[in-house]
Amino acid sequence: MTKYTRRFFVKSAMLISTMFSSACSVLSASSDKKKMYASMSIEEAKAHRKAWWKKNPILLKDYQVKACGKWRIHMLGTSAGSEPTPKNNHTSWVLEKPNGELLWFDAGVYCSWTAHNMGLDVLQAKNMFLSHPHADHFIGLADFFTTVNKIRWLYRGKVAYSLNIYTSAPEMVNAAMLFSTAGMGTQKYVNVQTLKVGEVYNDGDVSVEAITNRHMKPRKDGSLPSYSYRIKIASVKKSIIFSGDIKSLHDLAPFLNDGGADLIMLETGHHDAENLCRNLKEVYPNAVKDVLFMHHGRHMRNNREFEEARAEAAWGKPVIISHDKQTIDFA
Ligand SMILES: [Zn+2]
Ligand SMILES: [Zn+2]
Repeated sequence: MTKYTRRFFVKSAMLISTMFSSACSVLSASSDKKKMYASMSIEEAKAHRKAWWKKNPILLKDYQVKACGKWRIHMLGTSAGSEPTPKNNHTSWVLEKPNGELLWFDAGVYCSWTAHNMGLDVLQAKNMFLSHPHADHFIGLADFFTTVNKIRWLYRGKVAYSLNIYTSAPEMVNAAMLFSTAGMGTQKYVNVQTLKVGEVYNDGDVSVEAITNRHMKPRKDGSLPSYSYRIKIASVKKSIIFSGDIKSLHDLAPFLNDGGADLIMLETGHHDAENLCRNLKEVYPNAVKDVLFMHHGRHMRNNREFEEARAEAAWGKPVIISHDKQTIDFA
């Protein structure tokens, strides 16, 4: 219990007066400016606004692609399908090619806002791979289209753009288009590809293979709507396995049994990182070099240090417990 001594009252009074005086200095600076603005004539105010717009034009010129010269992974959202939290949005990440092009995986809430605000060029997302039609991997799609439409508008529609979307639920992509600013006009640049098992993308350097997993129940026709991916980059001889949401680590056996992956990105929304590490080490000892965790559930989000320590003890070396807006140099 707090002891209300004389010292306590003196300290509290000092603290309050410091807070008050710094608040007052901010207030007086802003009220000086406010006074100056208020004293402007209508003509002067008009000129003031005009000068601002001249310095800050809405429309942009000369679209240029920023090439980063590396292979980088950017984590846009690392939360599982939880309620809103202050620092974690739902699942989405991108692989940035050295030439600036983005391979986009999943589209959780605000993913395009996060990417844009991280300095990534959303117009360089030409291929998007959706793991499965659950909202925490999908709901940011309408926002994504809206961001693309807005940025294209800023360049007066002069930047050519097209986007392939690989999904097991084309009807949900259509629904997301309806919600975006350009509505079904978005269809002009979107090319929806229905996912199937096997290689779904190959640009001569990067290939993306898809396998089904048991996270979602089979549909009436027996097909599985939930997918995991393996990305291979020939030029740097590296590969990544992305679990999406999985029922068990063994869903990834077709990739893990091949061995030699450089990085596995595993979800912790339905699994403990520690158990995943132990299983990987015991059942698939040469499957992957490094482990990254994402799609964090409540326990991971609130006990990172604990989960990291347990996972690293099980894995025998450092792991990456990823967080939103994290960039990782991959190659
Ligand atoms: Zn999920
Ligand atoms: Zn899911």
